[in-house]
Amino acid sequence: MKSVFGLFGTILMFAVLVTASIPTASAQDTSVFRAGAAKLDITPPLGCSLAGHLVDRKATHVHDPLHARSLVMEDGKTKIAIVICDLIGIAQSEVSEAKRLISEQTGIPPECVLIAGTHTHTGPAPEPCLQSDPDPEYLKFLVVRIADSVRCAINNLRPARAGWGLGHEERMVFNRRYFMKPGTVPPDPWGRTEDQVKMNPGYENPNVVKPAGPVDPDLTILAVQDTDGYPIAVLGNYALHYVGGGNGLEISADYFGQWCRIMEQSWGKYDESKPPCVALLSNGCSGNINNVDIHQKLIQPHPYHQMNRVAQAVADEAMRVLGGITYRESIPLQGALETVELGIRKPSSTEVQEAQEILKKAGPELKDLPEIYARETVLMAEMPEKISTTVQAIRIGDAVIATFPGEAFVELGLEIKKKSQFERTFCVELANDDVGYIPTEEAYKLGGYETWRARSSPLQPGSAEKLLAAALALLNTVHESSGGR
Ligand SMILES: [Zn+2]
Repeated sequence: MKSVFGLFGTILMFAVLVTASIPTASAQDTSVFRAGAAKLDITPPLGCSLAGHLVDRKATHVHDPLHARSLVMEDGKTKIAIVICDLIGIAQSEVSEAKRLISEQTGIPPECVLIAGTHTHTGPAPEPCLQSDPDPEYLKFLVVRIADSVRCAINNLRPARAGWGLGHEERMVFNRRYFMKPGTVPPDPWGRTEDQVKMNPGYENPNVVKPAGPVDPDLTILAVQDTDGYPIAVLGNYALHYVGGGNGLEISADYFGQWCRIMEQSWGKYDESKPPCVALLSNGCSGNINNVDIHQKLIQPHPYHQMNRVAQAVADEAMRVLGGITYRESIPLQGALETVELGIRKPSSTEVQEAQEILKKAGPELKDLPEIYARETVLMAEMPEKISTTVQAIRIGDAVIATFPGEAFVELGLEIKKKSQFERTFCVELANDDVGYIPTEEAYKLGGYETWRARSSPLQPGSAEKLLAAALALLNTVHESSGGR
């Protein structure tokens, strides 16, 4: 669940199409590929608002710390920085400020910096998320920490080689939207009964007909090691919304953080003379994907059991893939960004009035769906008609990363991978912005939670298709400028 905090401010920070310098053939042949990685703690203080539920929660404990994890690669001419943060998302305003600092301090231009949230539901609110609001002091700390993690990764740069591979883990991912028997989908927050699908219908619900969409079981891996064969970083990409644990009041990096811990122990080696290996797990297009098997009730011996189980399964597959990686030492790098303008589903004045009536009768904490969405309707009246956001392509040799600026539906990632001309394609969501859910046009027709109008789902139908077209065009541009390699 997300919002578009910050889209009102520094919207126009990127040119329509910004492309970093493209290495020439001779530069590719002679340049030395270098890489470095670092992670810095971004855990907020206890008492902070935790994002990810319909109502606000205040953190009472730290189960495991949150990090900004950075991987910097350099081909002798172009530097690329990838930063994955243990956050539910990150607003364009913070991305913009972090990129400004990074550019100022390291010279890496914005199109070569990718900053994404993992989508942990047990981290601070980095932007207004339904009834949870961010702490401005934390945001200042976060931005500096992101930039510092890139500087630390640069400090760790050394001659390196990299390779990529593909695994599959289909047991952990489920499409969370289901077609239901006629008349069994509950009303939406406005009392309408037009939804044809229900998110999370519950275990063994006899009214479930079938899932309303596919899953993407790919686990895409980028492995980077130094020229002595010592691991520098491993970047994973897997399309799974989140898998948390605990009582909802504990700060945790979710299964994303646990995967990183396992990978750093299993794949990383200890050498006191070298910086430790850093693992990064980016989220794929997973706006409609979860880890809930509705046919099998989850019984956990302890609250973090399932989170650890999923992390272990995905890490086991990553280790298998790492065993078969072919490493290369000549790896041209390139980054490109494109701005995309998207329309907002503004409420009508009648809808705002109706919402205000509901709120007048509500208590101080909004608990039911009509009240919560009434507040969203009133707040959405203040949003602009249109917002500007970005998609990005990062080329790493014959592999590429394509990004979406919010919780992209799985169909978008599948389409990108199907049409990409690159040997290996990563699709990272919640990158460089957070415009909320990005449902396909078809999903809007079916309705359901992800399409209910709120700051966490403000976009007009057709936005996903616009972003997809822009991302595919960008991949094409990057591929052509690479000489079609
Ligand atoms: Zn979520």
